[in-house]
Amino acid sequence: MPSASDKPARAKASSAHGAGEPAASNFIRHVVEADLASGKHAQRRWAGRPGPASVQRDAPADPARIRTRFPPEPNGYLHIGHAKSICLNFGIAIDYAGACHLRFDDTNPEKEEQEYVDSIIAAVKWLGFDWGPHLYFASDYFDFMYQAAEALVQAGHAYVDEQSADEIRAGRGTLTEAGKNSPYRDRQREESLARLREMRDGRHADGSMVLRAKIDMASPNINLRDPILYRIRRATHHRTGDKWCIYPMYTYAHPIEDALENVTHSLCTLEFEDQRPFYDWLLERLADCDLLLRPLPQQIEFARLNLTYVVLSKRKLIQLVEERHCESWDDPRLPTLAGARRRGYTPGGFRLFADRIGVSKADSWIEYSVLEECMRDDLNASAERRIAVLDPVKLIVDNYPEGEVEECFAPNHPNKPELGKRPVPFSRELWIEREDFEETPPKGYFRLFPGNSVRLRYGYVVKCTGCDKDAEGRVTAVHCEYIPDTMSGTPGAEKVKVKGAIHWLSAAHSHAGEVRIFDRLFRDAHPGRERDFLEDLNPNSKRILSAQLEPALKDAQPEERFQFERHGYFCADMHDSRPGAPVFNRAVTLKDSWVPPKG
Ligand code: ATP
Ligand code: MG
Repeated sequence: MPSASDKPARAKASSAHGAGEPAASNFIRHVVEADLASGKHAQRRWAGRPGPASVQRDAPADPARIRTRFPPEPNGYLHIGHAKSICLNFGIAIDYAGACHLRFDDTNPEKEEQEYVDSIIAAVKWLGFDWGPHLYFASDYFDFMYQAAEALVQAGHAYVDEQSADEIRAGRGTLTEAGKNSPYRDRQREESLARLREMRDGRHADGSMVLRAKIDMASPNINLRDPILYRIRRATHHRTGDKWCIYPMYTYAHPIEDALENVTHSLCTLEFEDQRPFYDWLLERLADCDLLLRPLPQQIEFARLNLTYVVLSKRKLIQLVEERHCESWDDPRLPTLAGARRRGYTPGGFRLFADRIGVSKADSWIEYSVLEECMRDDLNASAERRIAVLDPVKLIVDNYPEGEVEECFAPNHPNKPELGKRPVPFSRELWIEREDFEETPPKGYFRLFPGNSVRLRYGYVVKCTGCDKDAEGRVTAVHCEYIPDTMSGTPGAEKVKVKGAIHWLSAAHSHAGEVRIFDRLFRDAHPGRERDFLEDLNPNSKRILSAQLEPALKDAQPEERFQFERHGYFCADMHDSRPGAPVFNRAVTLKDSWVPPKG
């Protein structure tokens, strides 16, 4: 049965989904469909809405559309967990003729860098998604956010608290105990407003006071116990420079960003569920102050991706890179999207993965092998076949004339004859895999051993006659004789029946090349669960081989992906390949045969 990924590439290119598989419905899609059916967003008034011009410009033309956003904080590289969120947000926008914004949530000046902005843009593009004109930076809304803060103070919904950080923490209470009102809570609005302006104008020291929402210090939801909205932080921002010395808290900024961009469905991970009451409280208050127009965005939470054998915490990823447990942010062993790309994983494989794992409200773990299977399915459909001998030993065809060369023809793709065939030269001295010869074969071994015959794929049937060994008993060459009239594809070639077929390369025509075999970076399914996560690192996660490669591989372009027959899927390294000398990374094996490394 053909796999789903054998469907035409066209279906793939035109949808948000992997390899033409349609997206299964889920609870988020149900909400979107219900909102479209009820016309909730069609009733949106556009006149007078604040927000970025590009939203204003294209929104009224098609007011029924929905809007989602992917809002990374530019403080690290994107990882496989982000891919789930990206596919979800962009996928829904595409499927319901909406728009998805790429918004940098850059409200924290301290950890953010342009390098991260660039890498995030590259990763989302690489996954195949397009935000059109809707690229935004939360820092562009700082003026509005500040104006909203003044409005909240004036309406009695916020106050400046001059307690110390410790006092504020102590006053917040616990899960079982109510919090205590700050002595500044009931101060005059005018006084809070004056302090807020002084905070903005740099008249107070970092940490000396904060702006807090005035909600309910006895709320069972701690997030509603007068959360902090603004703090003083003299830090240079990567976009606004030193214009501000007060910065909004994430929980205050995020709902406003969504509302200004007219996001209809704000999809986020489950840890924000307890923040939803504050999200709604804030936007309702700002709408009451006439700063925002209804309908307001709706926050909907889904379970984040947890994947075995990797870490998906930015803090841990930064540690792996900075402490040089891997080579760079795009080390092929890292679960960053930059690493996955370099390793040879595909955008189509990620979209397929997002569809297969689906979205739900319940936290769960996904086996790493599920991701590998998606990559395999996508690569199987798209990657051309080539031959590489990874652990070469000579096979000498003693009865084949020295100096003679014949062309055999190997199909570029077994299921796509339209991709044609390529010539593979045959001669007297060949390279085969060391493991394809056994002097004393174990039971069920059908490859080369003295007296046995195998087919050299796309070539002749040969009969093994013996081997040469060095002083240590290591095999240095295998000998055989070929059987004329058995050349693949010629009449009568199949009359000699054999049980095994092996791949090979003509020694005079192949070339040596570097091939990197990656294993999982961690040897434990849950790195860090039992001990420090660094102790779960797999010490043998990278092996470098000097392989023999077929002539056609000389011209492989950086990032070109192939199936090396019988070995797996490989990708020409985007940095280390040189013209005429590609270096290959193994993306994934042909089958799921992974066993945990020993030790
Ligand atoms: P931070 O701790 O820095 O906030 P983060 O992983 O949440 O780390 P963000 O840049 O805030 O990073 O993430 C952008 C978006 O990606 C958010 O909407 C977040 O919910 C989503 N996201 C992050 N990790 C995952 C994950 N493992 N699975 C699904 N979505 C994720
Ligand atoms: Mg986050």
